[in-house]
Amino acid sequence: MISATHTHSGPAGYLDQVLYQVTSYGIVPGEREALAAGIVSAIVAAHNDLSASSLEIGVGQLFDANINRSPPSYLANPAEERALYNGNTDTNMTQLAVRDAAGNLRGAASWFAVHGTSMNNTNDLVSGDNKGFASYLWELAQGSDFVAAFGQTNAGDVSPNTNGPVCQDTGAPCDGGKESCGGNILLCIAHGPGFTSAGDLGGDFASTRIIGTKQFETAREIAASGTGVTTTGPVLFRHAFVDMTDVVLPDGNHTCKPAMGYSFAAGTTDGVATQIAWQGDNTTNYDNPLIDIARDILHPPSAELTACQAPKPILLATGEMTFPYDWDPHVLPLQIFVVGRKFVIIGFPSEITTMSGRRLRKSTLDALIAGGTVDADAHIVIAGLSNHYASYVTTFEEYGVQRYEGASTLFGPHTLQAYQSLFSQMATSFSDPSASLAPGTPPADVKDLSFITAVVLDTTPIGSSFGAVTIQPPAVAHTGDTVTATFQCSHPRPGPGGPGSFMTVDVLNGGEWAVFLDDAGWDTKFHWKREGSSESLCVVTWNVGATVNVPAGTYRLTYNGVHTTFGFHASHSGSTDAFQ
Ligand code: ZN
Repeated sequence: MISATHTHSGPAGYLDQVLYQVTSYGIVPGEREALAAGIVSAIVAAHNDLSASSLEIGVGQLFDANINRSPPSYLANPAEERALYNGNTDTNMTQLAVRDAAGNLRGAASWFAVHGTSMNNTNDLVSGDNKGFASYLWELAQGSDFVAAFGQTNAGDVSPNTNGPVCQDTGAPCDGGKESCGGNILLCIAHGPGFTSAGDLGGDFASTRIIGTKQFETAREIAASGTGVTTTGPVLFRHAFVDMTDVVLPDGNHTCKPAMGYSFAAGTTDGVATQIAWQGDNTTNYDNPLIDIARDILHPPSAELTACQAPKPILLATGEMTFPYDWDPHVLPLQIFVVGRKFVIIGFPSEITTMSGRRLRKSTLDALIAGGTVDADAHIVIAGLSNHYASYVTTFEEYGVQRYEGASTLFGPHTLQAYQSLFSQMATSFSDPSASLAPGTPPADVKDLSFITAVVLDTTPIGSSFGAVTIQPPAVAHTGDTVTATFQCSHPRPGPGGPGSFMTVDVLNGGEWAVFLDDAGWDTKFHWKREGSSESLCVVTWNVGATVNVPAGTYRLTYNGVHTTFGFHASHSGSTDAFQ
């Protein structure tokens, strides 16, 4: 089970369907391979580190770290169902901790429902967002061989931007329905607790820190609380590839081929997309003739698709668009792990809303308990965005409101019921094999298309060389300073070369340079800029002591790159003068 988290700050260009490649101009060669190589090396490292361990389940509460970003949708759920819960987001963190035979904490996966969108979409640095920051902090605190994973669970309608949406021009609240400011949705943006004023880019970094730190602290408290419950027994699993486009439910309702509604184009207050639609367009008679013309040039939705997806007004008939290959997935991987008698993980290939997740957890756990597969006090979590990605899943009632999440629920109004039915069958199959789903067949690999220009040539000015320092750092720096150096560099796309990091902070230890921080660190930044047609300048910065304490000593900044000469690559590096 490979589970991702949402970020607006990651590299793109690796998913198989056209809709998810639009912003990256198709597949980005090299980038997908780098991601795959990293995942494989993590699996190999985990396999080689197998040893007898115990697994401990812990639960804690975390408040003030998430808000619901689509309250009008949530309110469409039945009042008696809403009354069962203390709010419109889940506030519990569920943890599976790993302890070795001596009882030492070796790693933990902690699931908490919040989007990794503390970094606004104006940020152009690669970042793991609040989940990545939580992971970084705990691994720093615990030591190098500790693994801290922070999972995204039923966070489909859950934002980390707890200040809520505000009009960026006036500071007034947005209109709560369309999320606009006097008709302009581009001004209605939600920020996190670190944001102070309009245009405050640093506020997003501060918000990421705050929301990430809260998750880290809660996770560490759960692990240290001594209240964990050990789960024992076999690890069981089920996996099936299911064609989600025509699942027929016992009541006769069925799913549809994929389609995106108008509100998909509006985006959310975590990341406004375009001004061409509102959130909450839920009439199939929606009258914007210009958009309809543009849509029909791409592909007019069939009458069958329009009826099946109602009341979603279809913007993109992605399920009927196959040029140059499928725009949205049709066949999806569904997976369950049963970890001993007391812990269950649903591998879910989409972002699922708060109430949808509650329903799916309950129906799946009920089936497992009824079959005697787990104990009555077992815990269940949804590992969102697992194994593939198929946008969002809302409840039937939320779908009717057609905000962003409903507009992005691919398989029509009965999508959630279909998933509940399928996961219940998988859960029942542990005790009753006749309930098993067919294993199915994985979707065929698609031919990769890339519309992004290849890197052809990197050069340096005459008399200079790759890795040459054009601006040196100061001779002395202190905690709280930002140390900066500029390098003659190359286009970063082929990769960092060298030790796998575009930059390092090195420390002098007994006459030898050793890596102190790399580009995964939160205190370091690597900026690249093209100069002319083939030259590049890279700026490396280090916020001394912002997250990682820095002992007095001798340091330098190092840059690593790969330059391209008409298809040939060579690696290079350069270091600054030493400084104190
Ligand atoms: Zn999302």
